[in-house]
Amino acid sequence: MLGTIAGNVIHEALELLLRELHKGRCASIRDPAAVAVLRALGGYSSIVERQVERDLAKLEGNPRAAPLLSSLRRNLLNRIPELRQKVQALLARAAWTGPIGEGPVLSGGQPRPLGMGSHTEVELVARDLRFCGRVDLITVDEDACVITDFKTGAPDSKHADQVRAYAVLWHRDGDRNPGGLGASRLVIVFSDHDVTFDGPSSSELDEIADDLAARIADAEAGLEERPPPARPAADVCRFCDVRQLCDEYWNTPDDVASPPASSGRPTATDIEGVIASRNGPRSWNLLDSRTEETVLLRTPTEAAPFSAGDRVRILHALQTASEDEDGSILSMTVASETFVLREI
Ligand code: SF4
Repeated sequence: MLGTIAGNVIHEALELLLRELHKGRCASIRDPAAVAVLRALGGYSSIVERQVERDLAKLEGNPRAAPLLSSLRRNLLNRIPELRQKVQALLARAAWTGPIGEGPVLSGGQPRPLGMGSHTEVELVARDLRFCGRVDLITVDEDACVITDFKTGAPDSKHADQVRAYAVLWHRDGDRNPGGLGASRLVIVFSDHDVTFDGPSSSELDEIADDLAARIADAEAGLEERPPPARPAADVCRFCDVRQLCDEYWNTPDDVASPPASSGRPTATDIEGVIASRNGPRSWNLLDSRTEETVLLRTPTEAAPFSAGDRVRILHALQTASEDEDGSILSMTVASETFVLREI
C-alpha cells in the first residue's frame, strides 16, 4: 500500500506542476517564470506533502486502512525528500511545447480538438472500441504528435503496450483529433531515463486496435457469465477486497497469494491453513493448506483471534525465512486480518 500511495503522490504532484506551469505560460521548468509558479505553490516539498495528506484523507473512511493511517503517514512524511527528488527528476525530463494559450484538457472538460502545443491529462475516447484512457502529456505540432507517459516505478514490459494503446486512442478520438493525425513518437519517462518508440504505422494501429477489441470482447463475455468466473492473478488479487471469500484465489496452485520472499526482506503474504497447536504465548503452529508444511505464526498479542483446530484465512501476514532456513515464519501485524472458516 505504501508503494502505491507513494507512486500516486509523485504522479499527482507532477500533474499539478505541469498544469500550473502551463497556466503560468512557462515553456519548461527552466523558464524564469517557473520560479514564481513554484513559489506560489509553496515549493516541491510542500506540494508533495499536501498530496500525501490528500491521498491519506481518501483512506480515512476505509476500515482496512484506518489502523494503518498513522504508520503510513509517518513513513510517507519520512520519504518526502525522496518523493520530491523523483518529482523534480521527472519534471526535468518532461519536454513540452509552450507556453500554450488553451491550457490543459482536463478529465470531465468538454472534448475539443487539441490545438498546437502541449496538453496535460488528456482523456481520449475511441468510441468504436468503447475504450478510453488518460494520457499524461500530448504534444501536437503541424504534422506530428508526441505521446508521453510518466512512470514512477521500475520499467515493465506492459508500459510499451500501454503507450501503444494510447496511440490508438489518439488516432481514433474524433473529438480531440478530428484530422486523424497519427502519433509520431511515444515516450515513457522514468526518473533517470526515457524510453522512446516510433509511433505505430497505420497497419500496426489496426493490429493493436484488433487486439484491444478482442480483449474487450473477452472481458464483456466474462461479465455476462453467471456467476462471473474468477481469474486469479497476483497483480490483481492482492488489491481485491473480497479475496478472503474467493475459493479460486486460495486454491490457485502458484504464487498468487504467497509471493516468494525477496532478498531477505519480509514479504506480505496471504495464507490458509489449520492452527495445529499453540507454540508459545504469542506463537502458533499453522499447517499451511497449500504446501502442507507447518509454519510458525506469531501474533502481536497473546489474545489470538483463533484457537487450535481452527481453519483460518489470514490476509497480509509478513513472511520471513527462519534462521535455520528450513521453512518460514509468519508475523501478524496491525494490518493483518484473520477469517476463521466455519462449516455451513
Ligand atoms: S481474489 Fe478472486 S474475486 Fe478477487 S480478483 Fe482475485 S480471482 Fe477475482
